[in-house]
Amino acid sequence: MNRSKPIAALEKARRYAKTLENDSVRAFKDAGGKVVGTFDPEVPFEILEAAGLMPFGLRGTGAQSTEYADKYFKQLTCDFTRSMFNELVRGEYEFLDGAVVYNCCDHMRRIDDNWKALPNPKNFHFLYIPKRWDAATYPRYCEELKALMDSVAKTYGVEITKEKLHDAIVESNKTHKLVRELYALRKDDAVYIDGAEIMDVLTAGESMPRAEYNALLTELIAELKANNETVVPRRRLMLLSGHASTPELLEALESQGALIVIDDASNGLRMCEKDISEEGDPFEAICDFYFNVKTPMPRAFGTQDRRFDAYLKLFDEYRADGIITARVTMCDLWAFEQYMLMNLLREKDIPLLQLETNYLMDSAGQIRTRVQAFVENLPRRSAK
Ligand code: SF4
Repeated sequence: MNRSKPIAALEKARRYAKTLENDSVRAFKDAGGKVVGTFDPEVPFEILEAAGLMPFGLRGTGAQSTEYADKYFKQLTCDFTRSMFNELVRGEYEFLDGAVVYNCCDHMRRIDDNWKALPNPKNFHFLYIPKRWDAATYPRYCEELKALMDSVAKTYGVEITKEKLHDAIVESNKTHKLVRELYALRKDDAVYIDGAEIMDVLTAGESMPRAEYNALLTELIAELKANNETVVPRRRLMLLSGHASTPELLEALESQGALIVIDDASNGLRMCEKDISEEGDPFEAICDFYFNVKTPMPRAFGTQDRRFDAYLKLFDEYRADGIITARVTMCDLWAFEQYMLMNLLREKDIPLLQLETNYLMDSAGQIRTRVQAFVENLPRRSAK
């Protein structure tokens, strides 16, 4: 959005989203804290936070190419994976004190193997999450989270007590509430914050300690409301895109007067729509939340109906006019997701634009042209 007045909290978030090591990371480490790189949404940050660690969302921010990573990966590997690894090889993740990788997909799991081939690897634990998600695999999932918790405790010589887990859940639920409030600022005709800005805020949230993120969200929401600067978009879009969610892509999607009013960001409303139970055993509450409560990712076989019902509910709730799906080239998970969504949305008569792009975006002009054509032909839902 073109803003006449700067929003300090938003500017800080945008600055953090565009870099890796930042002032908050440095301050946390200067105070003796340890920073652990990991990938959302399946590694429960609350387990790391209960151990006094700061989780940091691994990404390819800053990569201009994948030339360093290309020595380790096949060209058929998606460039989200290669960009992240490129920055690792370039030494941009030197500030990390550890890392946890999980088997999101076959591309990402290779990060774990290749990292171990580098000098002084930081990845101390690999989290294996079952591919199929149902009652039969849930006990295995809980065992894997328990193994993660034990490994974190052993690696850092800390005890992860029930009290510490409970405190981490309470702090995490504060984030959930604030993210819900932030998203609600896009529900009405006049929106306070666009999709690219929200994505930067979410990225910044994985680059600072949780309490600081909660303070930033509180300040941001208050500033947005006080400034009362809004825009009525030409059309309202829903974006479903997994790792195809870089600032460059979102800016291209919002360049034609339409704004993204709702998305499927893994650390956005998808994660925060509901809370983690603060009752009973906190470890069981974390397992239940991540497996049974939050909207599952495309990697989780057997969850398509749950996921698509959630998409359709949000599409209505945020009164979007159409849906854009985007995937990173070579991403097979999202190729299936796009195909299945295409059939569903046709049935529901919901306008759809399907895109494929590199994570290191080299086709902004082409994407702008396709979005322009889509938006020009997109009826307002209220006008149907
Ligand atoms: S973009 Fe697709 S293939 Fe690449 S890491 Fe993400 S889910 Fe895996």
